[in-house]
Amino acid sequence: MTESKSTKENQMSITAKSNKAGTPSSQPVRVRFAPSPTGKLHVGGARTAIYNWAFARANNGTFILRIDDTDPTRSTEENTQIILRAMRWLGLDWDEGPDVGGDFGPYMQTERLARYTQVAEELIAAGKAYYCFCSPETLEAERKRAHEAHEDFQGYNGACRAIDPEEAKRRVAAGEAHTVRIKVPKDRGDVCIEDAVHGRVVFKAKELDDFILIRSDGTPTYNFATVVDDADMHITHIIRGDDHLSNTPRQVIVYEALGAPTPTFAHISMILGEDGKKLSKRHGATSVEEYQAAGYEAEAFVNYLSLLGWSLDDKTTIIGREILARDFSLAHVSKNPATFDPKKLLWINEQYLAALSDLEFAQRILEPQLVAAGKEEPGCVTAKPEWFSLLASVIKPRTKIAPEVIGLTNFLYLGDAPTIEEKAFNKMLAKESARPSLEAAHKALANLAEGKRSFVTDAINEALAPLPEELDVSRGAFYGAIRAALTGTLVSPPMGEMIELLGYRCTAARLEQALQKLA
Ligand code: GLU
Repeated sequence: MTESKSTKENQMSITAKSNKAGTPSSQPVRVRFAPSPTGKLHVGGARTAIYNWAFARANNGTFILRIDDTDPTRSTEENTQIILRAMRWLGLDWDEGPDVGGDFGPYMQTERLARYTQVAEELIAAGKAYYCFCSPETLEAERKRAHEAHEDFQGYNGACRAIDPEEAKRRVAAGEAHTVRIKVPKDRGDVCIEDAVHGRVVFKAKELDDFILIRSDGTPTYNFATVVDDADMHITHIIRGDDHLSNTPRQVIVYEALGAPTPTFAHISMILGEDGKKLSKRHGATSVEEYQAAGYEAEAFVNYLSLLGWSLDDKTTIIGREILARDFSLAHVSKNPATFDPKKLLWINEQYLAALSDLEFAQRILEPQLVAAGKEEPGCVTAKPEWFSLLASVIKPRTKIAPEVIGLTNFLYLGDAPTIEEKAFNKMLAKESARPSLEAAHKALANLAEGKRSFVTDAINEALAPLPEELDVSRGAFYGAIRAALTGTLVSPPMGEMIELLGYRCTAARLEQALQKLA
């Protein structure tokens, strides 16, 4: 992801915690999400994207998507496409970026390489950066020496600062290998930022060396490219993972060299697994793609991720995109790490499903799932919209996540002669009361089907209700026998609804085949 992750804890000291600024200044808010396409969009990245998007929307600002693809060995076009697809699925629309363009493009860093070279040259001309000809071996030897001498400062010693700029130019023109380094002002002092999440963070001046802007292969470092872009794109707030906090002082130095205003930083906490360790594959699915494939609702997923480190009011858990887009604020972002809890995600998903009307559930969840599973034609009846709505009303309260509807609707797809599980047969059909129960139910339902009343839930329930008493059979034994005959199992949707959904013909056929099995 970046270089300079080497920062040790002691390189920064957090001296105050109360800055909850992060409120927009007078400039229009412009924020960016800048994923590196070195992998899929993972949960942490998605949350960063959500916060940026929500912050832009809540402040009538602009949300920019930039692809940080300057690492040629690990970035791929395929990953870029996966990230764009994931962003679309999450519903995080961007105002500027790949596909949509914008006034500050291009929005792929590989298309901006000439710009980094140009800015580096400008900084050199202004005496704010310089060519460095030190070989990796020289640098390593110097680092080792400083380390062994327990020197306070162990970064680059600035040897090439002393080279006359004209001579340096000649050496570059002659093809000598070189990098470009920033010239950190000797009197810069500690770098202090007012982070909108962490409050005041101070980075010790002695830790800052003249770091590299352009590598010997001509590519820009992350700390340089990102600041050139963020400055060019007039980014006002940088909301990103706090694994980048340690890069921030270097970036501040680049802003200062460019003479560009330093944006407000907001470093958001890590997401941890339930064992308290950084969320990783060991904890299960980590990419947005996997959650989409598992059947989560995008809105529920966004809702859940938004709560990993942010809260509306400490109690509301169901927060739709429109609320997020209206009420998101950095002041409510916590600096404590958040724990990813798959059970809570599933619970939120369930709430979103429950909030759908029966018709919406039928159209958005049931039908697509059944079609994808090749189960368009429920074996027994001709499915009309009302039939799907009834099915939805039965299935919806039992569904936590869309693919579960396949198992929950299985009773429809057993044809006229379901296989009866041994357990169900022994418990419900092997009894003496089973035969009279099935016969009585068959007769009552046949009468209903032939009569004037529609073959619908209420009428079915009424037709069956008096029978246990008439037969002197317990309700459990009576309905259990019918359930076993109709589904081959011990569990099913409520009886009246199930029989309406199966329709008379199929119900009768299944009862008959169970009676034959009893013979
Ligand atoms: N491309 C960087 C990353 O994915 C962006 C970091 C930043 O937001 O500055 O980590």
